[in-house]
Amino acid sequence: MKRYLGYVLALSRLLAQEGWCGFQGYEEILLRENPEIQLRKVLLDQAQYFISHRKAQQENVRCITSHYVIPMVVHVIYSDASNMIPFERVWGQMLRVFEDFRRVPETQGYSNAGVDSEIEFSLATKDPNGRPTTGVVYWRLYQPPLNWSSPNFCRETQDESMKRATGWDPSKYLNIWIVPRLCVAPSQGASCTNCNTVAGYAYFPTSRAVLFGTVIGADFFWGSGQPRSDRTLVHELGHNLALYHPFNEGCGSTNCLNTGDKVCDTPPTNQIDGNFAVRRQNTCTNDSPDMPDNMRNYMDYVPDAEMTHFTSGQIDRAYAAIHGNTLLTPLVQPTLRQITGTGPYGYIKAYFTAWPPVACVGQPVRLYSYSMGMPHIYQWIITGRRENRTANTQCPAFTFSQPDTYTVRLVVENLSGRRDTLTKTKYLIIQDTALRLPYRESFEGSTFPPVHSYIYNPDQRQTWHRTTNFIPPHGAYGRSRSSAALRFFDYNHYHEKDSWITPPLNLSPYTQPEVQVRLRFSYAYACLTYENTGTSPPAHRTHYEDELTVYVSADCGNTWQRVWQKAGRALATIPNLCIQAIGGIPNTARFSPDSNRWRTDTILLSAFKGSSHVRIRFEGTSGWGNNLFIDSIVVDTFHRLMPAHPVYLSTGASFIEKAYVHEGKLYLHLHKSLLSLNLSAYDIFGKEVWRLRDYSLSPGECTFSLPEALTEGVYLLRIESEGEIHTLRYWHSP
Ligand SMILES: [Zn+2]
Repeated sequence: MKRYLGYVLALSRLLAQEGWCGFQGYEEILLRENPEIQLRKVLLDQAQYFISHRKAQQENVRCITSHYVIPMVVHVIYSDASNMIPFERVWGQMLRVFEDFRRVPETQGYSNAGVDSEIEFSLATKDPNGRPTTGVVYWRLYQPPLNWSSPNFCRETQDESMKRATGWDPSKYLNIWIVPRLCVAPSQGASCTNCNTVAGYAYFPTSRAVLFGTVIGADFFWGSGQPRSDRTLVHELGHNLALYHPFNEGCGSTNCLNTGDKVCDTPPTNQIDGNFAVRRQNTCTNDSPDMPDNMRNYMDYVPDAEMTHFTSGQIDRAYAAIHGNTLLTPLVQPTLRQITGTGPYGYIKAYFTAWPPVACVGQPVRLYSYSMGMPHIYQWIITGRRENRTANTQCPAFTFSQPDTYTVRLVVENLSGRRDTLTKTKYLIIQDTALRLPYRESFEGSTFPPVHSYIYNPDQRQTWHRTTNFIPPHGAYGRSRSSAALRFFDYNHYHEKDSWITPPLNLSPYTQPEVQVRLRFSYAYACLTYENTGTSPPAHRTHYEDELTVYVSADCGNTWQRVWQKAGRALATIPNLCIQAIGGIPNTARFSPDSNRWRTDTILLSAFKGSSHVRIRFEGTSGWGNNLFIDSIVVDTFHRLMPAHPVYLSTGASFIEKAYVHEGKLYLHLHKSLLSLNLSAYDIFGKEVWRLRDYSLSPGECTFSLPEALTEGVYLLRIESEGEIHTLRYWHSP
């Protein structure tokens, strides 16, 4: 039994390492033959300490062109027309690589979990002799210089000879080889009998120059129709940028630079539990803070369509490699762009997005070009029914005077003279709406999102929806039937963000100091506590917690201020905070609120008074925890009963000189010492809500903190001593 278990562990270890990427196994061979490379790798690990000034959180959209360009050449090794990969497939792959590395909005490369690396891989248009090339070079395997006898390529015996025979100058080009069938040896010294099991492999930029680059089996390259054919190159290019698998070092020590992939913002993964599928698991519990595995990383092993991101820390590590005198360092030199016909001298492709996604008449909206190929000419043409606009900068801002849905066309051109055009028909929405207060939204209407409001869901996966519960007691807040919800329980994603944004509200009439504007909303939430009971990974309890943030914009959504945020157990509205699931995660762990499992919060919107287009944004951030509901959103006004500034109460009392309430405190100025002072507070119904008894005080000022945990409203303070009673009204706002 023990031997059998040992065999299973050894097999799963091999699978984790060689599941589809041969990087780790081959790195071991390389290090055996070239021990000096180990030192270079250690130096690279150390270099990350010095490169950590990138912003951890990036804005939704950014006006940035690629910072680094890496020239690339793709060598296609083929036997006959059936495996002669056409240029169109290489181009499709290059677009996916660009979208993923640049986190291009409105593409599959966009995810809130990740960052824009600002790195652009660019297919060469000039060969090493300066002659034009498509960037794709074809090599017939039966002919010189290869002279292979079979389409099977053996990683262990043919790697270096193939690269020596075909590779372009590795100080000018990153070489990519597509081989008809990629075969590997199942163990050291064995022959290459495992074919089409490993999808590709790549070398670190600390390896030998002649070997540097990526090798991919043709079945695993873009457009083959096989699984793993979308992002094998994205993953292998990550290795070329010095990124490890998240399970490389396993759980390791408590130092995050020595665990997992040696990057601190990616949770480590146990070596024998590589993530082949997206599931709730936390294979390493010694990371701090202890985070569940985030297996959607491009460097993990989940299916290509499930992968979403590189983290900020991974890009820091890539930058350390780029700057660290590695094989990447010469490749990013700007002078190389003209020599290799890349970046601004190479291929071009137009991409753009708009922010805010829905704008208002008279308020700014900006278009952002994310185009590949570093254009120097931008031509924007915006066409509406009554109003047309043009611009010629990368990220132009506009203010429209007519409500409409505009068609946007972008034409880009770079120094090579190449052009590309992208048209998005009826893309830019300009509203001419500003609702008066009070604004109420209970999601009872059948239209969702409600009219004039919208949903921002840049990754185009799951998002806000309207939910209706007809059977009491499960329901919305109070007596209403419906609410808006995020089904985080079913998200299968961490860090995904989804916003529901209210219609523009007109707060311009409210400028008087005594008129206050407030937002009230109700929410219901439970987190999820999952305890796996198996042995691999070892039993561990993990809290899966989500977040709700409220932002307010005074300019119809162009800029936002965060006004409220709660997450996890602080957001939870059930007595036990989290719903527990042990062993498995049954459907009953899915949170659905009773009508009384709701909490209402109030936010003052004083800072936004006077603005004509105020929008409120409810943004949920997934921790793959449990369902979140919002309901009964009200924006209205109220008059302060007590002025904002303290007013001194001249009581005429024999012992009080003055008394006033300011910011939750009662200030008493006493003429003389008192042996026994009694204080009480009463609500509007005359019910005593607070009391202090028998205080002895000396003359001068004394301060009392008034109770905080009261609902907002007017209260009466009763001050009693030496047979005299005095009262004082005050307004309590939480
Ligand atoms: Zn890999």
